[in-house]
Amino acid sequence: MSDDAGLQALREAARLSPDNLPLRRLLAGQLLAKGYLADAEAEFRAALALSPQDPELIIGLADVFIRQSGFGEAMAALEPLLATPGYPPAAGVLAARALLGEGDTAKAAYRYFEATSRDASVADQELEARITGAPRPGPPAAGAPTPAGPPATGGPSHAGPPAPPGAATPFLPSVPLPGDASTAEVERSGVSFADVAGMETVKEALRIKLLLPTQQPEMFAAFGKRAGGGVLLYGPPGAGKTHLARAAAGELGAAFVNVGLADILDMYIGNSERNLRATFDLARRNRPCVLFFDEVDALAGRRSDMRSAHGRQLVNQFLSELDGVDQNANEGVLVLAATNAPWYVDVAFRRPGRLDQPVFVPPPDQQARAAILRILCRDKPLAEMDYDAVAQVTEHFVGADLKGLVDRAVEAKLQQSLSAGRPIPLTTQDLLAAAKTVRPTAVREWMGTARNYVMHANDSGAWDELMPWVKAKW
Ligand code: ADP
Repeated sequence: MSDDAGLQALREAARLSPDNLPLRRLLAGQLLAKGYLADAEAEFRAALALSPQDPELIIGLADVFIRQSGFGEAMAALEPLLATPGYPPAAGVLAARALLGEGDTAKAAYRYFEATSRDASVADQELEARITGAPRPGPPAAGAPTPAGPPATGGPSHAGPPAPPGAATPFLPSVPLPGDASTAEVERSGVSFADVAGMETVKEALRIKLLLPTQQPEMFAAFGKRAGGGVLLYGPPGAGKTHLARAAAGELGAAFVNVGLADILDMYIGNSERNLRATFDLARRNRPCVLFFDEVDALAGRRSDMRSAHGRQLVNQFLSELDGVDQNANEGVLVLAATNAPWYVDVAFRRPGRLDQPVFVPPPDQQARAAILRILCRDKPLAEMDYDAVAQVTEHFVGADLKGLVDRAVEAKLQQSLSAGRPIPLTTQDLLAAAKTVRPTAVREWMGTARNYVMHANDSGAWDELMPWVKAKW
């Protein structure tokens, strides 16, 4: 039987037994493998109607979307799966591909390295090269010398300096980076705590930890406390962790260095560690400075979860940078790190002087949502606004969702204003109309994941603060 005849027979069988899940799964897989994408999509959807949570089918459907450049659709299909603890690593790699397609390299890197640290066999060199921005390595010619780099001492090149966490592919020899290059940039923050709505307890915690020791050093010295160290901000995506970090820098009059994964992770041996060191040095040269690490769980993951020594080495390097080589190395450098997945962060980071204080950045309640909307709308032409009314219909929206809502309303208003030839002020109705078109992102899923950790993996009491939140109805 030819390939196509085989496929035809499968199609016929599926037509006769439409509820036979294994058959439909097989057919969908074959259609995908042979590149009949429209048919594969229909078949995966039909199979998902029979078994809606099936990870393999979700992955198949997402794959179909990606092959048709439907990156947003692929992420929409994958997101519920990604929110389940221990989701299949293959889903993480596909998500990385979709995120890269959407231009979000940092999130792509996070997904990719998280997935490959759990299962080395899902690694994909071509994707990894695109994520890390490195040229795709070709196979070395037989007998060719290894590319330039410090000669390996004490063993093969794998025993040399480390590489990104979870890296599963054989590691490439080191290529020296120019000087102490860091791709992170120094910013001057234009926002302060006044620009952060709500979050009073979080702001207070940051004030005590970060601001008071620098503003009143004598008092702290009198009690034998040094400024420095860091804070781990955690909570659902979009709840305002980055915004808060930037505001802390503004409040302090400090420089702000915003470090994404793409600034650190590099597929060449040793370069990730060098990038990390260069980034700390950049902050040290610009003190007082807030050094902000987004998605820090990808750099500071639990060493016990890592299969490769390379990932563990990066974590060790991060710990020693936090500790500072000498006592005053990090004087005036305040490290803020953010994560949506604090349970993946190695416990060693919680020791005194490191990221010793986890601070929960919660989703905003109704009052905080109204305050966020007020801040987001304040520089626009406005009619009389009833932010409470909008806050009421935006349950489960986080700051990022509210920003999306305001952006959408403003775009519509701009269109109208352009046609009218005069600025037409934004109204409550505009926001209410936009609210109907924007769906809240991941808070509910995040709370579901957090609940699992709080209820089942909270021996140390580290997540006690989350208890009332995860017990609430979401
Ligand atoms: P996270 O880092 O937690 O993913 P962000 O800090 O990127 O979230 O938040 C996205 C956007 O939402 C911010 O740029 C900001 O405009 C808005 N935002 C979030 N929280 C607040 C807040 N409390 N007050 C004002 N704006 C906020």
